[in-house]
Amino acid sequence: MNYISTRGGGESLPLSALLTRGTAEDGGLFVPQQWPDADIGLLQGEYADIATRVLQIFGGDSLPDGLIENAIHTAMEKFAAPVGPSVTPLGDSMWCMELMNGPTLAFKDFALAPLAEIIDSKLLSENKKATVLCATSGDTGAATVSAFAERERINAVVLFPDGGVSEFQRRQMTTTGAGNVLPLCVKGDFDDCQRTVKKLYQTEAAAHYGYTAVNSINIVRILLQTAYYLRTSGLIQRETGEYSNYVVPTGNFGNVYAAYIAKQLGAPIGKLVISSNDNDVLPRLFDSGRMQGKTTIKTISPSMDIQVSSNFERLLWHLKQRNTDAVDAAQKALESADGYSLNDVELKTLSDDFLAHRCHESDALDTIRQVWQQHQKIICPHTATAFHAANALSESLDGQTVIAETAHPAKFADAVERAIGVTPEIPSHVQSQFSKQESYVSVQPEDVQSAIDERFGRSN
Ligand SMILES: *Cc1c(COP(=O)(O)O)cnc(C)c1O
Repeated sequence: MNYISTRGGGESLPLSALLTRGTAEDGGLFVPQQWPDADIGLLQGEYADIATRVLQIFGGDSLPDGLIENAIHTAMEKFAAPVGPSVTPLGDSMWCMELMNGPTLAFKDFALAPLAEIIDSKLLSENKKATVLCATSGDTGAATVSAFAERERINAVVLFPDGGVSEFQRRQMTTTGAGNVLPLCVKGDFDDCQRTVKKLYQTEAAAHYGYTAVNSINIVRILLQTAYYLRTSGLIQRETGEYSNYVVPTGNFGNVYAAYIAKQLGAPIGKLVISSNDNDVLPRLFDSGRMQGKTTIKTISPSMDIQVSSNFERLLWHLKQRNTDAVDAAQKALESADGYSLNDVELKTLSDDFLAHRCHESDALDTIRQVWQQHQKIICPHTATAFHAANALSESLDGQTVIAETAHPAKFADAVERAIGVTPEIPSHVQSQFSKQESYVSVQPEDVQSAIDERFGRSN
């Protein structure tokens, strides 16, 4: 099985070539040339076994035998619950899928930890080295550093904006003590970090260091996330005999698209609810049929502060019945700021599977308080948008409803304290980072390459 661009141009590539790929040459996202048939047999077992089977179905045979299976199992050993995320009942047909107990306390660990292990094993089998470059506003940098620290064949360079991440997030990136990790505090904002990374890919240093990306449009990351939806849906069906709806705090549309893939594979899934904060580009699409960005607003749920949900392009490809010319035209209109409209048939198809809901900041704070009072459970502000959506839309959701708990509340203590006056406890497995020495280099954007040369040396 090979992958092609959603926009129809450029090369077709096997999954093994997509481990470290960003967009396709024509700017599109990689999607399978043939969509695989459903396989209900995937609903039971450990997360690692289900994730292995998903990757096998989606072209994993382009990697050496056993590599994926070993890599995912090895990665999961670092999780508090190696079998997979806990699924806890909350009464009233509600459940919580706890994705926030990994090494850096956000769901991104589930994708990045196994992906790093797979990339490392592949580099070993090819006797190659690489350098991961990552611009981050917080969670992704932390998960990247944790996933790649202490690896022999890969260096990791993370660029974070000076003053643009919380102390908690900065410490997650700067206290590993790993010789292969270089945290860079860049004098500028997140866009400066991202621009610098993009520029470095175009330089001759890129080939020398083997610069690679593992960003959120990476299809392997998404497929690894599909596994926990399959597992949880199986679990709930065996427990209740019913279908699950998922409410997913959404930014770049990666996590909820992973749930859509699980449904396509035949999992007993009802509706998928996109929950947004005041950056409501997707709820607006459901209201008006029109996809168009706006200026991004800063909120208490920063990982959802996005106006271009990149992975939605993959769903658009399904909605356009895999017509790549139509996707290309729509995306060009979106990039030119005009936006595009969905027709009635496309909107109907969209709403067969998805609902969308926006949660204002004051409602998110109220929801943190309500969930605390009702369930004695402390939730993060991203997860709060999902609880708010589940309550608001409960009439439209038959069967069981599962909240995707995307981050641990301790990562966003300020907002939680504002809501309930209680400081969330930091789990013991990450407490040590507060006593450890921080180590990072402060640089101007134009000096990032010299900082990399200084640490990792051109001669290595
Ligand atoms: C990244 C992130 C999201 C958004 O996920 P997408 O896959 O980009 O939609 C939501 N919540 C938290 C805590 C995150 O870190």
